[in-house]
Amino acid sequence: MSAAMIVAIDGPAGAGKSSVARALADRLGFHYLDTGAMYRALTWLALRDGVALDDGPGLAALARQRPVEFGDQDAVSIAGVDVTRAIRAPEIDAAVPVVARHAEVRDVMRERQRLLGHAGDSVIEGRDIGVVVVPDAEVKVWLVADPAVRVRRRHAERAGIDEEALAEDLLRRDERDAANTHRADDAIEVDTTDLTLDEVVDRIAGLVGVRR
Ligand code: C5P
Repeated sequence: MSAAMIVAIDGPAGAGKSSVARALADRLGFHYLDTGAMYRALTWLALRDGVALDDGPGLAALARQRPVEFGDQDAVSIAGVDVTRAIRAPEIDAAVPVVARHAEVRDVMRERQRLLGHAGDSVIEGRDIGVVVVPDAEVKVWLVADPAVRVRRRHAERAGIDEEALAEDLLRRDERDAANTHRADDAIEVDTTDLTLDEVVDRIAGLVGVRR
């Protein structure tokens, strides 16, 4: 077993991964790694620099040259630009699965995710963490929620965006991300539909306590 303890939290968009992973990391004093933010930042840079979204090798080269950096309070930057807010725009939501489906891009991202994840005890959030990125993670959680609740949560985060458009986006993203979203056989499913954030965090923190 590696010295660092890893909690892998996977699941579809809007299941509550980011809120849960961040709060859990705070509670446990672990690092928090948002792997979706890495794909989002690369997508932002590709759009800015005019790298075609169907150019897998070009995008992978860009990812290598310009690794995503995480700062204080989950600030995300790439190529020296703070993109914390910009990467949550609807244009990025729509484009990121196109970037994330390239195997070359995923290889670069996963390598860096392992590096960052093993720097210390970590909660890593994504879609392929428990199966591909860190298959030996001590605790694996598969987070799910009813579709209507997922849309409502996303709506609360994205003020001013039409709820129907968000529902459509989540559905399309589910379809486009399906090939890279994996539930590990040894993951514990937590359905967040009727649970508060604290209840979800309590439950996962309990699993971590048992493994220590
Ligand atoms: O979790 P979040 O919605 O921020 O992820 C944004 C996108 O990044 C996903 O829609 C997916 O295309 C991609 N992603 C991925 N693998 C991960 C994390 C995110 O393909 N581990």
